[in-house]
Amino acid sequence: MTIAIYPGSFDPIHYGHIDIAQRAAKLFDTLIWAVYDRPLKNLLFSTEERLAFMREAARTIPNVQVVPYSGLTVEFARRMGATVMVRGLRITYDFEIEYQTALTNRQLADNIDTVCLMTSLKYAFVSSSILKEVAFAGGSISPMVPPYVEAALKKRLAQLGDDRGDKVKMVSLQE
Ligand code: ADP
Repeated sequence: MTIAIYPGSFDPIHYGHIDIAQRAAKLFDTLIWAVYDRPLKNLLFSTEERLAFMREAARTIPNVQVVPYSGLTVEFARRMGATVMVRGLRITYDFEIEYQTALTNRQLADNIDTVCLMTSLKYAFVSSSILKEVAFAGGSISPMVPPYVEAALKKRLAQLGDDRGDKVKMVSLQE
């Protein structure tokens, strides 16, 4: 039985993330969709909010568990009994980052392998940072995210009021 984890910040999830989770769930017996609770970047959504979006998206995928974690991803993977780490690849820039991360993780835990799935073409240019920028500018993000994420994002931007520009800029620069 192979357990895989799909870790990330997911601030917030979008259809590109959901597509990878659905496809990875078909490849492994159990997929642990894991949200990193305190990445080294500012977040727009709390861990609980990010978890709630992921749980909603995972409702239709039977072998997926949505779990938060902190600390080293490989340590979390070990605790969960996972031997595979799933990541998604969009354009070449992702490859450089994922390659470096995978080699670092192999050095930390040589019994855990990284499996990268290529994005589906229609989501190749979707990212959490771009959708936040589009929403901030008043554009429609419905082709990129489920309705519950779109509603929550609009609400959060409205709550931030005049500070929302600075917050989105700060968040985007870090992704
Ligand atoms: P990070 O974990 O680096 O903070 P994210 O939480 O946005 O970044 O992404 C988690 C994983 O999902 C990463 O492997 C990322 O490359 C992948 N991913 C992000 N956007 C897409 C997309 N549009 N298609 C496929 N994979 C994606």
